[in-house]
Amino acid sequence: MLTVFHSLDAPGIAGGTSPIDVVSRCPLCATIGKHDFAFDGRWQIYRCPRCGLRWLWPRPADPASFYPAPDKLAADFSPVSAWRRLLKALLWNTTGDVGRRLWPRWPPVTDPQRLLDVGCGDGRYLRAMRALGWDVVGVEWDQAWADLARQVSGAPVYVTERVGEGDWPAGSFGVVTLWHVLEHLPEPLAALTALWQQLAPGGYLLLEVPNANSWQAECAGERWLHWDPPRHLWHFTPHALRRLLEQAGCSDCRLRTGGNLPGWQLDRHGRKWLRAPMAWLLARLAAAAGRGGVLLAHCRKGTDDA
Ligand SMILES: [Zn+2]
Repeated sequence: MLTVFHSLDAPGIAGGTSPIDVVSRCPLCATIGKHDFAFDGRWQIYRCPRCGLRWLWPRPADPASFYPAPDKLAADFSPVSAWRRLLKALLWNTTGDVGRRLWPRWPPVTDPQRLLDVGCGDGRYLRAMRALGWDVVGVEWDQAWADLARQVSGAPVYVTERVGEGDWPAGSFGVVTLWHVLEHLPEPLAALTALWQQLAPGGYLLLEVPNANSWQAECAGERWLHWDPPRHLWHFTPHALRRLLEQAGCSDCRLRTGGNLPGWQLDRHGRKWLRAPMAWLLARLAAAAGRGGVLLAHCRKGTDDA
């Protein structure tokens, strides 16, 4: 039985109808879903014709087994790799991609504050923000990844199974970030609701997810990189993401799309799809047209909100 979005009273979720009915209805707006894709004869994607939300079915019973261990990645922090990464960053800079990668992730505040990065991965974002004088904290759901993030960033990183659940008192953070995390969470509404509580008045919630309404998703079809079954449980359009944020109580939300080069370069099997110049051009055009491969949301809590 689905328990996601559990605070919604959508028919088929709170109503206790059969699992098939639950699957076929959109967890956000309760509209009957349409079957979109089947992957590997096992994972299905359903689409809501009303709000555009897509969801994976069935859910993996053992999600952790589908995530890589951090061992391979830890090796990437050798000095040689550091030089290679620097070189890459400089090359990206000449194509403007560094702007897309970094600037959207700087919070729109002038003074460093206390920042919570949810699903901090290898800890590189924490490290960058800490170097700029921010007081940063990370959470991960896997001990090994949390250890790596701590080692990379030098910041406290906690392991939590349910995001946002009772970890910190209300109003603890000036900024909360989720970079490509929301689509992995079994209960995104509960997580956002809790995280919004932990945000201080005047604070910012910043997040990025793949954009299911993007040109790259449309062009790639079943091969789109960001379907990523069974790790991605949700696929958001701007409309669906806005709806979810509003249901979680988030206010003053601004959404826009970004280029996302990888989604044009690789398919979901990791095979090369388009060559760099064409991929870069399409990424830029799509972002300019508001149909970029990722969705970025900035929400601001009112200064009078508790
Ligand atoms: Zn819907």
